[in-house]
Amino acid sequence: MVNFARPQQVNILGVAIDCVDFALTLDLIDAWVMQRRASEGLGVPCRQICTVNPEFLVDAQRNPAFAAALARADLRVPDGAGVLWAAQRMGRPLRERVTGSDGIDYICERAALRGWRVYFLGAAPGVAERTAAILAARYPGLQVAGCYAGSPAEAEWPEIRTRLETTAPDILFVAYGHPRQDFWIDRRRHELPAAVAIGVGGAFDFTAGVAPRAPLWMRRRNLEWLHRLITQPWRWRRMLKLPVFVGLVLLQQWRGKQ
Ligand code: UDP
Repeated sequence: MVNFARPQQVNILGVAIDCVDFALTLDLIDAWVMQRRASEGLGVPCRQICTVNPEFLVDAQRNPAFAAALARADLRVPDGAGVLWAAQRMGRPLRERVTGSDGIDYICERAALRGWRVYFLGAAPGVAERTAAILAARYPGLQVAGCYAGSPAEAEWPEIRTRLETTAPDILFVAYGHPRQDFWIDRRRHELPAAVAIGVGGAFDFTAGVAPRAPLWMRRRNLEWLHRLITQPWRWRRMLKLPVFVGLVLLQQWRGKQ
């Protein structure tokens, strides 16, 4: 059953997070792919999904252009345990994290069932190909439209556009990290020959085994951030945004009660 209804939203630091779980996200993607296929691309722009974690929300506070790009996206899914924590505090508990890293699996599983063509764009050279091979083995029948590292630089656009136009994907995974991937999709979406484009950050690195993903017990206890800090200690400066996020959410809540 395809669901076109707009999901409810929760405002976290001025960004409207969509109250979706994986099931609803997949239904929306399903609807958008069907709509785009039915229109043969005419008048139906590529839909943009942003996988929003606390870093996005702190960055959006400091970068109005990023906040505006997030606002224009068709769906802002709650990636990151901190987003679930904040939603709970705002009185809108969310079912689950909708992460890019798990999302590429769920979407490829659905794509194999439905015959959607998927394209893997981004990460270091060779990583997209490895990711696609692993997912194609995991989900028999998956139609991989193509793989390309490329880059979000302007000069790369003609090459990427040619590759996408000749392979005609339904789903475009973009792994350039935030905010670059989200700006890139936002800037190009009216020309992107795909039904849905989703920024997935380091998801290819996890699937291809380039970066270790937190074990399930840590993910279940919302400790993925701690695993990242231990295995990728050079990210410590970026991770200072987490306590900043907590402080800003508490401030938003306090102001809401005034
Ligand atoms: N990346 C890329 N081109 C760039 C910058 C980054 O392909 O110009 C890739 C990088 O190789 C990695 C991903 O983007 O696979 C960024 O992962 P990260 O976990 O840092 O994503 P974030 O948490 O910033 O969304």
